[in-house]
Amino acid sequence: MPANKKLLILPGDGIGPEVMAEVRRVVDWFDKRQAIRFDVDEDLVGGCAIDAHGVPLADATMDKAMNADAVLLGAVGGPKWDDLPFENKPERGLLRLRKDMALYANLRPAICFDALVGASSLKPEVVSGLDIMIVRELTGGVYFGTPRGIEDLPNGTRRGVNTQVYTTPEIHRAARVGFELARKRGNKVCSVEKANVMETGVLWRQEVQKLHDAEYADVELSHMYADNCAMQLVRNPKQFDVIVTDNLFGDMLSDEAAMLTGSLGMLPSASLGDADATGRRKALYEPVHGSAPDITGKGVANPLACVLSFAMMLRYSFDLGDDASLIERSVEAILASGKRTADIAVPGEKTISTAEMGQAIVAELEKLAD
Ligand code: NAD
Repeated sequence: MPANKKLLILPGDGIGPEVMAEVRRVVDWFDKRQAIRFDVDEDLVGGCAIDAHGVPLADATMDKAMNADAVLLGAVGGPKWDDLPFENKPERGLLRLRKDMALYANLRPAICFDALVGASSLKPEVVSGLDIMIVRELTGGVYFGTPRGIEDLPNGTRRGVNTQVYTTPEIHRAARVGFELARKRGNKVCSVEKANVMETGVLWRQEVQKLHDAEYADVELSHMYADNCAMQLVRNPKQFDVIVTDNLFGDMLSDEAAMLTGSLGMLPSASLGDADATGRRKALYEPVHGSAPDITGKGVANPLACVLSFAMMLRYSFDLGDDASLIERSVEAILASGKRTADIAVPGEKTISTAEMGQAIVAELEKLAD
């Protein structure tokens, strides 16, 4: 029997704890089957950590995250903490996790479940069967480059500066994640930048090509300008398998791609860092949605984004692709049977609660695993 996996769960604020309670049912189900055993620790992040410790992420919690095999986060933030200064806001807890764990690759799948084709704003034939993975570089580029700032000019006007900067290793490690993923999927990578107007784009294109030629010649590689990619994502998204792009373009393109599939309540994500000497890769999994204060406490939040984030954890941290698929197939079956939380229901359709959705997943897992 392999050693138990150390899992740190950070439910956070708002609907975070509500959706995480349903993920715990799924974790417990896997634990009971003994296929994979977890040592689960739970702690505070975001507004609840501010209330308890005065900071959005206590040092002791950060230590736990550094020592965990994987971290699963719910959501942070809410109106109660909106007026705090920027450095003390709940979101700083999340940013500290990403920074201290050096999570440089953000994976955002955009999968359109057949039963939810109607929820997309695009035509069914454009999105049906859609399965894209966007890899966004997360720790470099214009969001972090220096010089940056706003300065007063002698003539009384002001000047704002941000700097887009990338180095070869930063580009290679993000692209490597994309190529490795592609090999396990459709074997195609589209690298996206603006090489027509930005030097960092020229470097990005050249370095991705170099890495491809040296180590990933078996993967089909294409290059595309970011503006064209934005257009192609709504014109013909199924042409893509894996998209690899920088921090800024990835921020926008991943939101755009995600919305092709319908609701925020369905979207998982993973953020990966480097592997240590034992092969353990730092990793944080979280739904894309926030703490949804408008529905907090009503028992109506969709837990599927968080459940699917856990599935990503099984696949990318623990190499348990079959178990991840089992969860994904359960979700597909539940949706096909017509079960819907309010966010993915059409007007007039019967809806189920957060807890009922959690129960339905476990029941479906039981059925599929038989
Ligand atoms: P949000 O994602 O919380 O909510 C946007 C809309 O989507 C709301 O109407 C909400 O009810 C709905 N929604 C979101 N998740 C849902 C789910 N699982 N099921 C059903 N409906 C769902 O974004 P927001 O309203 O802009 O932000 C609310 C708070 O969350 C803010 O404090 C913001 O800073 C924070 N936030 C946190 C994260 C994070 O923790 N990663 C991400 C985004 C926003």
